[in-house]
Formats: sequence, structure tokens, C-alpha cells
Amino acid sequence: MFGRILIANRGEIALRIIRAARELGVQTVCVYSEADADGPWLDLADEKVCIGKGPSADSYLRIDRIISAAEMTDSEAIHPGYGFLSENAHFAEVCRDCEIEFIGPTPEAMGRLGDKISCKRLAKEAGTPVFPGTDGEIEELDEAIEIANEIGFPVIVKASAGGGGRGMRVVHDVAELKAAVTSAQQEAIASFGNGAVYLEKFLDKARHIEVQVLGDKHGNAVHLYNRDCTSQRRHQKLIEEGPAPNVDEAIRDKVCESAAELIRKAKYSGAATVEFLMNQEQEFFMLEVNTRVQVEHPVTEMFTGVDIVRESIRVAAGEPLAWTQDQIKINGHAIECRLNAEDPDMNFMPQPGTIESWRPAGGPGVRLDSHVIEGYRIPPNYDSMIGKLIVHGHDRNDAISRMRSALSEMKIGPIKTTIPLHQRLLEHPSFISADFDINWVERLLDE
Ligand code: ADP
Repeated sequence: MFGRILIANRGEIALRIIRAARELGVQTVCVYSEADADGPWLDLADEKVCIGKGPSADSYLRIDRIISAAEMTDSEAIHPGYGFLSENAHFAEVCRDCEIEFIGPTPEAMGRLGDKISCKRLAKEAGTPVFPGTDGEIEELDEAIEIANEIGFPVIVKASAGGGGRGMRVVHDVAELKAAVTSAQQEAIASFGNGAVYLEKFLDKARHIEVQVLGDKHGNAVHLYNRDCTSQRRHQKLIEEGPAPNVDEAIRDKVCESAAELIRKAKYSGAATVEFLMNQEQEFFMLEVNTRVQVEHPVTEMFTGVDIVRESIRVAAGEPLAWTQDQIKINGHAIECRLNAEDPDMNFMPQPGTIESWRPAGGPGVRLDSHVIEGYRIPPNYDSMIGKLIVHGHDRNDAISRMRSALSEMKIGPIKTTIPLHQRLLEHPSFISADFDINWVERLLDE
């Protein structure tokens, strides 16, 4: 095991990694920006190193400074968390060149799954269900027209290097296709320096369901069942839960096993998530693979008992996975609500400022992953998530009641948060019956 690791992240995920490392007897070094100088999580790290000014481009995205900080503090490995440099293959490569272990996949495995066209090819080999569409990059418009006619409109043009919803165009007929391909290519070149785009079927009424997977450096891979993240606003997840409700068990297990096979084929080590859309006939289609730990990983930890962050550190140190597939069992149901400092009544405007009062929820089956304490000043530079409230219940109804109760215990002031929105969603018949699709929250907000 490592003696000391560096955490190239901030906020709740930095705290989550500190906790996992401490349990393993591993020391931690946190890098931080000037805007985070009073970050409460830094008090729990063994060492901290300031790497620059508030804007991410001057600190959390500065590979040179992060590597220097690791060398200066004799850190043997770097955990990137999520966001920032976590899916940057160049960063993983620089770590390797500097003989610092990147806690995550090799740059090659990251590339195989991070590039959507290459990922889709590998998924087909692994038996992971993918959307019907072009086999690879669109090179000839005629070929794209032919395939679009074959699978039927609407279709979606997507960038192979895509992320954050950029380089995507929904197309309703042949007349729109040419312009959509050209503009998606231009956007992809501008955003990612890679203009490759492909085309697939567009699903209208779908649920977002994803499979948590873990791999090690010895060729082992397991899945930890699935999560439902259908409750979203502008492609940002608001509520996540698991296991995904109303999915036939045989279908679920087959999709989960295919996701484990996909990362085995990619020679992937660490935590990853294979994301799918599911239609009303319970057919699954892979969206993409996230090659890092995800915000919603606690949901899976609560209903499987597997510590995903601890496992990611262990496997990076070369240890084999501590779990075999048949040891991983579903126990009850878990739900997570993201607590964002945003004003739902003001179009979700971020609310930086000082948290003057903070009363956390507690009790059996309640977990709060948050870096916030009373008096904490939320800097304006980063995303607005101030914590995640997670509950576990013996079944879904039990978890829903527990979440309602926990949300009502949380008292945060004077900052506005998404708590009232969560309360509304958790009372809604569409949520209670899990009869929803990825646009249901936006439709509700429009009403
Ligand atoms: P990105 O990496 O840019 O986030 P994704 O492939 O994850 O791109 O897609 C982002 C979102 O776009 C999805 O969560 C979904 O809402 C929508 N989307 C993507 N592909 C499709 C599709 N084939 N049909 C319907 N919606 C899609």
C-alpha cells in the first residue's frame, strides 16, 4: 500500500478520499487554490500545498504544479477525484512518466473507453447493448443518410470526443442532417480538437440507468449493480438511487454483467461507470463510460457495502479486488439528493456566500457527504454542490420516507439550496411510482 497520496481535487470528494485513505493508514496531501485556503477538508489532510489562484485553470487544472506538489511531498500516487483532470489521459501519462501512480486507469484504457467511437466498438465485442447507428466516424454524408433512414428518425449526431453535451445535434429528417453533421463537426473541433462525429438513434422517452464497475490490474472486473439517475435538470443529475426500480432482474443482471465484461476487455483498473438509456420496453443502449469515480458512488456503497473509493486506492497500489462477483449482494435501497447552493426560484442561480447556519441530518441509515461547516464561505469559482444527502432503507418506500425526513432535518441558512425542490420531487407520484423519463423534472418546472 502507498505511504502517502496526493489529492488533486477539492470539496466533498477531497474529503471522501481523505476518509478512505485514513482507513487504509495512508497519509494525504491536499492541493488547494487561494479561493479554497479556508476549506474545512484541508484540516483533515496530513499536508496541504497551495497551487495557485481561484480559477481552476490557474490551480486544479495545472498539471505542472500538481506534479511538483506530489514530488515535493513524496506522494507516491495521485487521486484525481471527479471533474478537473480525472478524465485527462495526458495527465495520467505525465503521472506515469514521473513515476507517480495515477489512481485510475492507464492512459491507454482511458482512451479506449473515453473515445466514444472506440468505446462503442469494444462494447459490441463485449455484448454491451449499444444504440443502432453508424459503426464509426461519419465520413460520407450519403452513408449517414442511408443509416438514418434505416434506423428511422429522430437520430442524434454526436462527437466521439464529446463531453458536457457539446457537439450533439438531434436531427428529425434528412433535410436537417447535412447541416447538423457539419456544425457538430465544427463544434467538436473547437471544443475537443477532434472533429470525429457519429450518428445513432435518438430515444425520446428514456430513463438514465448506469452500472458501477470496478477493475484491478490482474484482469479482474466486477459490477456493483445499477443506479437510476433519471431525475435531471439540463443533463445535471439531481437525485440518484439504486438499485434502479422497475427493471426486470434478468435484464438487469445481463446488462450489468456485460458492463463488467466491457471493462475487462478494456484492461481497465479502478472505478468506472457505464451509462445507458433504457426505453419503455426495457431495452438498454449504452451512452458512454465515465472513467472515474462518480458523484453518486455513495448510492452503490450504501446498498452493496463496498467502499468504492477505498477499492480504487487498493487496486491502484496493485492489490487484487477484495470482492468477487458472488460476494456482491443487493441489500435494500439507497437514494442520494445533491444539495446545491442554488436558488430554484431564480432559475437555479448559484448562491455563493457564507453559510451562517448548518444543521445536518442524522439518524439510522442517513449519510451526509459534505465538506461544509458553519461559517464556511462558498467560493464563486467552482460548482455549487455543497453536499450529498444519502439514505438507505430496507426497500424503496422505506428509503423515500427516510429521505423526506432527513431533508426536513437539514437546516441551511441564509443560502438558498435545492432542498425544497427535492422535497417536491420526492412527493410527486411520478417519482413515487418510478414512472418517469429524463425530461420529467424539466416538464414539472415548466408547469
Ligand atoms: P456527454 O458526454 O456530452 O455528456 P452523453 O453521451 O453522456 O454526452 O449524452 C448526454 C445526454 O444527452 C444524455 O444524458 C441524454 O440525455 C442525451 N442523449 C445522448 N444520446 C442520446 C440518444 N441517443 N437518445 C436520446 N438522448 C440522448
